[in-house]
Amino acid sequence: MSNTVQIHQALLDSLKEDSPPRLDEHGRQVRCLLMYSGGLDSTLAGVLLRMQGIEVIAINMFTGFCLTDHKRKMGHRRKDGSRYQNEAIVGAAGLEIPVEVVDVREGYLKVLTEPKYGWGSAVNPCIDCRIHMFGHANRELLAEYDAHFIATGEVLGQRPMTQMKRQMGIIERDTDLQRMIVRPLCQGLLDVTIPEERGWVDRERLLSITGRGRKPQIQLARELGILDYPQPAGGCCFLTDGNYGKRLRDTIDHKPADEVTFDDVLVLKVGRHFRLPGGNKLVVGRNHEENELLRGYWHLGPFLRVRGVPGPLCLYVGNPASSDFPLALQVAARYADCPNEAEVDVEVLNQDELQRLVQTVPLDPGEENAWKIY
Ligand code: SF4
Repeated sequence: MSNTVQIHQALLDSLKEDSPPRLDEHGRQVRCLLMYSGGLDSTLAGVLLRMQGIEVIAINMFTGFCLTDHKRKMGHRRKDGSRYQNEAIVGAAGLEIPVEVVDVREGYLKVLTEPKYGWGSAVNPCIDCRIHMFGHANRELLAEYDAHFIATGEVLGQRPMTQMKRQMGIIERDTDLQRMIVRPLCQGLLDVTIPEERGWVDRERLLSITGRGRKPQIQLARELGILDYPQPAGGCCFLTDGNYGKRLRDTIDHKPADEVTFDDVLVLKVGRHFRLPGGNKLVVGRNHEENELLRGYWHLGPFLRVRGVPGPLCLYVGNPASSDFPLALQVAARYADCPNEAEVDVEVLNQDELQRLVQTVPLDPGEENAWKIY
């Protein structure tokens, strides 16, 4: 397994040679925007559409909460030792289609903190998130690419929050895309779309896969000649992670939703988080990579670091005049490699610049757990 999309050359050749261009009623090449993750389902959808002679442009939406992207930045490796990559870019290259990574962060905070259709089991506002993404595609991208319609790799019933008929209908209605989204893996189970009605897509060659199992997709991949594809890595997005969810809810509990910034929510991906008794916050890096990532959040508050011994970089977010501040120093010292009860110097830094040195003694290990946000 290479964890990237690999397609048999015979399939690629046949997509080029045996799939005459599909033309619309005006003689124009039919073109679609495929919401593309680089995973198996959206890859299959792309192949099925290309087999009909439809030009496929892969669109990968960037929200800042992609787990794989975070692991890639952290230098993590998969179980088989391979590096994490941007799967959409690699997958599109394997599929030999163009890909655009589209930054949809603008307006996403409101989606995240005040979702009209609520959160899933963590803080995943999946319906609102899809509306945000599809809405962006409809407003900005269809015209830009002169594309006829939008396609996805969705499978009916696979995800309870967004891939049920009712929710698909809500997403289409709220984005003004009624009957304009084609789902090649399950379209046979859904109402006829405008692209099918107008002959841009042949409904007879679309599939009727349903449910959470992946056997039909794996079988189809084998039959088509899709040799390899990224294995699901236990969730695609931070917002479905229970621990992340607790941290985000804590943030919203301590700040009005309209004052929460992107940095407030992105820093929740890094380190151990503590809500101190006075309401201020401390973030403690867990390793070198997290310490480095934490440096990017210097404007949220001063850094704390025990002088002269190995230890984490800590970020204090809040009022330095609060009684939480000395406590934060003690927690920082507790995680540094220094003897218990020994007095240590803690550097208080503004970015890299030393502001002052403060003496403290480490907190007894475990005492800080009372404030930990799990
Ligand atoms: S899992 Fe994350 S990226 Fe996917 S729809 Fe839900 S919130 Fe959006």
